[in-house]
Amino acid sequence: AKVAGRDTLSFFDPEIQARLQARARLESDLRQALPRGEFQLYYQPQITADGEMCGVEALLRWQHPGRGVVSPGEFIPLAEENRMILAIGGWALESACRQLAFWAADPERQHLVMAVNVSPVQFREDDFVEQVLAILDATRAPARRLKLEVTESLFMEERDDARAKMLRLSERGVRFSLDDFGTGYSSLSYLKRLPLAQLKIDQSFVRDLLEDQTSAAIVISIISLARSLELDVIAEGGETEAQRDWLTTHGCTRFQGYLFSRPQPLERLPLSLSATTSD
Ligand code: C2E
Ligand code: CA
Ligand code: CA
Ligand code: CA
Repeated sequence: AKVAGRDTLSFFDPEIQARLQARARLESDLRQALPRGEFQLYYQPQITADGEMCGVEALLRWQHPGRGVVSPGEFIPLAEENRMILAIGGWALESACRQLAFWAADPERQHLVMAVNVSPVQFREDDFVEQVLAILDATRAPARRLKLEVTESLFMEERDDARAKMLRLSERGVRFSLDDFGTGYSSLSYLKRLPLAQLKIDQSFVRDLLEDQTSAAIVISIISLARSLELDVIAEGGETEAQRDWLTTHGCTRFQGYLFSRPQPLERLPLSLSATTSD
């Protein structure tokens, strides 16, 4: 590499340079990941108050050839910036729906709901509704068992467009959960106008609720908001019995967290839920 004179070097701080290079490498690897089949879905169970599994959340994992598993927290923001999330998110939705269609054919599993994360970048596509409906058609997954997890950021701008898309999908049976709830700035009066099925309490509040009164107060108000809007409420990130007991006492009846199970590949889900063992 060319070495520039000292006075012109200030922009090329070696640390920044190294970081830019690492990012560029990750980005070019990410471009190859889908065609090379390096993505996988993990599934994390969602549990009712009786301890029954009522569904799962599908979570992307990237099996990088050199670096092992790269967490979505690392590659999703990058994929959103360069819009690769459109292809990756489409793959995730289709794979999840294919699994959902298998479960639908099995009396012991047909009650399970599949929750899939949707990036705002995907959701804002003009043909997002058509894309989802096409995937439901192609996979023959039951729309009523599909739950799309969206975040409050969708309603910061073009909220009427977002609402219209949600309405069209909910008319076809698709349900919506508002993810990371409590961390954004939802207008409460607007929430009422959305076809939502569920609020998902952000894990930061669940983590702190026994130590921090503010977090506890926020969780209590989310649960009561859900009740008054007649929405389901699920707590994410519960790791201890004490958190679960507190949440149950305060009226939260659905849980997803390490206490019950980490996200797992299909074969390792409890109750041998794998539907693809025969092929
Ligand atoms: P999220 O949608 O809020 O997903 C929940 C995250 O919390 C997951 O991290 C899950 O593994 C983690 N989690 C669940 N229970 C616990 C717990 O008890 N303790 C702790 N410490 N963590 C827990 P993960 O799988 O790393 O995903 C991170 C984020 O990446 C997700 O946050 C979501 O925003 C995004 N993501 C994952 N898969 C997809 C996808 O298919 N599409 C899109 N657009 N985003 C995705
Ligand atoms: Ca989620
Ligand atoms: Ca979440
Ligand atoms: Ca999150």
